[in-house]
Amino acid sequence: MGRLTALAGGVGAARFLDGFIRVTDPSSITVIVNIGDDDEIYGLYISPDIDTIIYTLAGIADDVRGWGIRGDTFNCLEMLSRYGVETWFRIGDRDAATHIFRTMLLRRGLKLQEVTDIIRRRLNIKVRVIPVTNDRVETMVLTDRGLMSFQDYFVKRGFQDEVRGIIYRGVDKAEPAEGVIEAIMNTDGVIICPSNPIVSIGTIISIKGVREALRETKAKIIGISPIIGGATVKGPADKMLKGLGLEPSAYSVAELYRDFLDIFVIDEVDVGLKDKIEKLGIKVYVTNTLMKSIEDRVRIAREVLNLIFNNINVK
Ligand code: GDP
Ligand code: CA
Repeated sequence: MGRLTALAGGVGAARFLDGFIRVTDPSSITVIVNIGDDDEIYGLYISPDIDTIIYTLAGIADDVRGWGIRGDTFNCLEMLSRYGVETWFRIGDRDAATHIFRTMLLRRGLKLQEVTDIIRRRLNIKVRVIPVTNDRVETMVLTDRGLMSFQDYFVKRGFQDEVRGIIYRGVDKAEPAEGVIEAIMNTDGVIICPSNPIVSIGTIISIKGVREALRETKAKIIGISPIIGGATVKGPADKMLKGLGLEPSAYSVAELYRDFLDIFVIDEVDVGLKDKIEKLGIKVYVTNTLMKSIEDRVRIAREVLNLIFNNINVK
């Protein structure tokens, strides 16, 4: 089997990768992860998407809650709260250890990608996990209440505000991390995970050279729609698309990726969008894309692998 590269946000990507590592050789996979929602909270450097991916690959993620470590306790947070600190951003005790360790290494001068590599190796993860850039790029959300950081919009305000625009602050100066462009160019398949197309994949492909690499690579590029029947499974992607004047649908996502996507995997309930998406010059594969159980995740992973390696004729 060949090499594989995935572009990933948080939960949607983690669900897919959870199946993918069971049907492939994990050491052949490189995951390029969004860092646009990173923030400094309680003095610690938090990288939510990297943590969701790493905890899932390590088998310790809290899959039900969708963030943090399974069975974690919240003593540290309770104590912070006694000191009068606002604790809307929930961090468990074990989870905090990850942030302390990461912050410690960053302060010693290591790059985010070096720190991420140390963390994943210590958790016995065979998949290579790379933040898309070592530079700070902050996804800012312009809402009807003004401009706010992604965590303020998403966690503090519970994505209730109307979205008017997205700014990738710092993107002009950001360089792709070492290995990112190469992982897209020298691979057999690139998977665009079912992640938020604006603030997860959108941030990744706005980093210098990434979109160009996706257009130029000879590897087959397969996307999985994060939108099922006009809605997200989790999170604000549908609201964001609407706020940006786009119809929240698999079609809109296909349109955002049209310059590099070869095949788009959409849900059975969206079979009616197939012809329209194909008119964009993208092949469409229809299946059940909801990845609740491990069986679903493994099945979708197999289907994607077949699309990459067996030249399956997409009906
Ligand atoms: P976040 O950083 O945790 O918000 O995660 P992501 O950027 O990876 O993605 C959130 C997206 O994942 C949402 O648009 C969801 O609809 C999508 N998603 C989550 N679970 C599933 C699933 O089981 N199937 C599909 N197709 N999409 C999913
Ligand atoms: Ca995220």
